[in-house]
Parts: sequence; C-alpha cells; structure tokens
Amino acid sequence: MDSLRAARYPFLKEAAHFAEENSADIESLITSHTYASARKRGLERVVSAISQYKVSDVPLLQEYDRLMEVLSYPYARMIVSCVNDRFLRKRYALAEASRMNDLLSNDRTSDMAVAEELKVRSTADTDGMVSMHFCDYLRFSHVMKAVEWKLINTDLRSGFVRLSSDKFGRLLQNALQERIESELPLNVPNDFRKAIRNDIDHISVILTETKNKLSPTGGEGMNYDYLPPCMRTILASAQNGVNLPHSARFALVSYLNALGLSYEQIIALFAQSPDFDESKSSYQIKHITGEDRGGEGYTPPECATMKTNGICFDADSLCGKINHPLSYYRIKSGRTERQ
Ligand code: SF4
Repeated sequence: MDSLRAARYPFLKEAAHFAEENSADIESLITSHTYASARKRGLERVVSAISQYKVSDVPLLQEYDRLMEVLSYPYARMIVSCVNDRFLRKRYALAEASRMNDLLSNDRTSDMAVAEELKVRSTADTDGMVSMHFCDYLRFSHVMKAVEWKLINTDLRSGFVRLSSDKFGRLLQNALQERIESELPLNVPNDFRKAIRNDIDHISVILTETKNKLSPTGGEGMNYDYLPPCMRTILASAQNGVNLPHSARFALVSYLNALGLSYEQIIALFAQSPDFDESKSSYQIKHITGEDRGGEGYTPPECATMKTNGICFDADSLCGKINHPLSYYRIKSGRTERQ
C-alpha cells in the first residue's frame, strides 16, 4: 500500500483500501473525535475550491496526515452534495482535478494508476511519451479550444494519440473533473446531514458571497440605469405588449437571469405587458433560465450575435468599447474588475 499516493489521489481505489485498513468508516468519520482533523481538512478542501479554484496543499509526511487527507475527500464530497448547488459542484470538481494535475506534474509514476482508475485507455511509452486511445482523446480534449488539441494536429499512430506527459496530465484533469461532476450529489442520509450542519451552512454562506461577487449586480438587484440600450429597448417593448421575436425574448430573459434575477422577478417584469400570457411566458422563461431542468440557464448572446439578429438597438458610445451586453452593466455599475 502506497499511503502517499492514496493521500495525493484520494479518488483511487487504494485510498479506500488505506481507509479500510485503518478501520475508518463514514459514520466514524462524521461523528468520531478521532477524525476531527479529517473533517476540518474536508471543509478546507471545499473552501479553497471556492476561493482559489484549487484544493490547497498540506504536508503529508506522517501516516496519520495521509489518513486524514484520504478521509477529508469523502467528507468534502458530502458537504458539496448537501449544499447541492451546480456552481459549487462544478467548481469543486475543477479544483480537485486541477490539484491532481499539479501533483502529477511532479509525480509521473502515478500517471497510469490515475488513468486506469478513470478508465482512460493509455500506455506509457519508453521515450517518456504517452499513447492514449483516440476515442478517449476526443472525449477529454473536446473542451480544449487551442488548435494544438485538434486531432488533426496530433501524432496519431494505430488509433492512439502520442502525448507529452504534461498534455496527458491535462486530459486526465478533464477526465477527473467529469468523473466528480457525474458522481455528485451523493445521497447523504439525514442523520449525517444533521451532524455536519454547521459545515454545510458555512459553505453556503461563502458560496452566496462568492456568487454575489461574480454577479454583474454584485447581488444587489438590478438597476435599470445600468442596462445597455438593447436590453432597455427590448424590455420596454415587452412591457408595452409589442410582439417580440424569439431572439429578443431569449436575449432579454437570459440576460436578466445572468444578472441574478429569479424566475419570479423575471416573470413579474413580463407581467406588466397588457397581453401577458402567464402559461406561455412561464414555459419560455423556465426553459431559458434552466428552471425546468434544475440546471443553469443559457448564456446571453454577445453583441455580435445581437447585431446579426437585428436586436442591437440604439448603441451608444460605451457600446463601442465592449463586446458583450453584460460588460455594459459591469462598467456602468462600476464593477469593472472581473473576479
Ligand atoms: S452594442 Fe451590445 S450592448 Fe450595445 S446595444 Fe448593441 S448589443 Fe446591446
């Protein structure tokens, strides 16, 4: 048993074996004083994921430190599951995966163990390169936008893509991120939830603060004066009963949703229209905001798309300096510093 590897990569099966060997189970992790350090570290994993986009490092010199590190992972996943917020799940998954990639960059002996765990078909070549099955390559590289990741620009041999260890690590990061996102939220029993209530509440508060900081409105509600001319025009048209094209309705609703307005707040704006049709508006708004599927809403279109769709109205001097209507709001409201 390589306890250091288990602690560094706590998603590996050998991490679970390490915990079993030490007679640690989930119930005692949550309730026993013995594992208070693991719970503290689990909370820290989530806090650093939110605040730094990456799980922080801790010394792993002693077996005790390694066991606490291994156990902190399931504890962190339980907290994330209980908060049950899509933004948090994605951010946490990214932070864990990003940390793994950092660790792998100085520990190439664990590449293959990680790849096997993540079911990424690959082999280590004798020249330090790695060969990855092209199907797995396509699956985990499709989010990489740089042209160097296009399959046509790779060294493809007999169905396998030859990669440097750095690039291989980056794709393993995507694989782990996808894995964690697909596994969460866990079904956490109610008595466990009660026992970790304080940590759940702590993360919920930090999460709300972070989301507010990231929101163009700073979580302070929408100010009409900061809306770009296009959105003011479309909103006024909607409220005056003008029949809007789908592209305009979509742009407005997705924009208001991105500003942080709730479904109820958005439908209240549309309700001012003289021919307001609640069931039709409700269906459209729920779909655009993601309310009907418990997910995130659509991203509002950028200025170029608005122009193509003929719904860029009354552009002013500030419009000449931006390429997205959300930037207009940020600049107008003085929130030019993008977190
Ligand atoms: S330039 Fe952009 S922000 Fe300005 S009115 Fe046109 S679409 Fe709206």
